[in-house]
Amino acid sequence: MKDWNALSDENFRQQIRSFFEAHFPKHLTHLSRYPRWADVKEWYLKLSAQGWAAPNWPKEHGGMGLDGGKLLAFVEEQERWLMGRAPYEPGIMMLGPLLIQFGTEQQKRTFLPAILAGEHVWCQGYSEPNAGSDLANLKTEAVLEGDEYVINGSKIWTSFAQDATHMFILVRTEKSAKKQEGISFLLLDMKSPGITLRPIRNILGYENFCQVFFDNVRAPARWLVGKPNQGWTIAKAMLGFERIFLGSPKHPQFALRRLEAVGRALGRFKDPVFADRFAQLRMDVADLVSTYARYADIVKRGELLGPDVSLLKLWATETFQRITEATLEAADDAGGLAGEVSLGDAALDVSSPFYTARPATIYGGSNEIQRNILAKNVLGLPG
Ligand SMILES: Cc1cc2nc3c(=O)[nH]c(=O)nc-3n(C[C@H](O)[C@H](O)[C@H](O)COP(=O)(O)OP(=O)(O)OC[C@H]3O[C@@H](n4cnc5c(N)ncnc54)[C@H](O)[C@@H]3O)c2cc1C
Repeated sequence: MKDWNALSDENFRQQIRSFFEAHFPKHLTHLSRYPRWADVKEWYLKLSAQGWAAPNWPKEHGGMGLDGGKLLAFVEEQERWLMGRAPYEPGIMMLGPLLIQFGTEQQKRTFLPAILAGEHVWCQGYSEPNAGSDLANLKTEAVLEGDEYVINGSKIWTSFAQDATHMFILVRTEKSAKKQEGISFLLLDMKSPGITLRPIRNILGYENFCQVFFDNVRAPARWLVGKPNQGWTIAKAMLGFERIFLGSPKHPQFALRRLEAVGRALGRFKDPVFADRFAQLRMDVADLVSTYARYADIVKRGELLGPDVSLLKLWATETFQRITEATLEAADDAGGLAGEVSLGDAALDVSSPFYTARPATIYGGSNEIQRNILAKNVLGLPG
């Protein structure tokens, strides 16, 4: 098995880039919506056949075993082609590392190879109608009956639940304990009787997520990860290194190129107000790129990211939104039209990036919550 970490970062990046350039399906390049499993399955299986499905897992579990710097390079190269989150990510980026750290040998044997083979597609069942930012308020309950948990309640905003074969879910297993202390981390099969899905249509008209209802759904007790009532600690372990990905400059860079194309197609650069605004946004993106590079260096050195990394998410997502707003305005009436529109000699989709940018300030911990973290943990302001 290849020792990727023996390569220089640049050499490694070049190898990944060549493979993506040669093999990434052209019809998936920069989709204006998040891809569904049916869109990306073939590509995922190609990555898997190459041994590249899990760049972040250790080699003994079938991953590439990349160090921080190379993993970042892999994700950055992938982002050059595939915008947004793919349905295989919860299994690869979230569940896999947790099972490797906290799972039983049987759980690892059952689930890790199935994720790599694309047989199991996982979704993340955390948020509930009254538990999003305040996740510890979750009410979906699991009661132990013999060797099974019986689950009742509901999850919401579950991305790609329609595509998933399995869900990792946070459930309340102890009601009398303090909020965070009565929560467990459980795995379940989406085909279990008692599960109902209600797809939710997003502002672009796509059904990217669902509300999921549980009516006496049974999951084997041996599928509980870690110890009962310690799910909070397990869920929190997920929020380490990944936080840098939420601050990636790729979306704003893509949006800036779209703004530039709209500006050129309509001759807007002759207008000093537009030119000024474009220059400002371009500098905002340049600031983001250098701030991201600072955090990437921390990851490459193998050090832990501090709470200040929250500023990266704020800057990335809010710059993304500002650019897409400027694009709609620059496009005039065409900014109100969905899909590709004719602008001068060009055919451009001006509205999809605007809509895609909306939820970016909500998922992954809303921007208000990131500001609270900065206020409390970095600036030391009273909570
Ligand atoms: C595209 C997308 C995909 C998602 N996918 C998943 C998924 O796969 N699985 C999953 O479990 N969840 C998923 N989510 C849900 C996401 O995690 C929640 O939307 C997020 O945690 C916010 O929770 P909420 O929607 O309940 O909003 P709320 O927590 O109700 O917040 C509403 C508003 O109040 C603000 N607010 C809340 N508390 C505070 C506070 N203490 N101080 C200041 N302001 C505050 C928030 O910032 C927000 O503006 C997804 C969301 C989106 C948008």
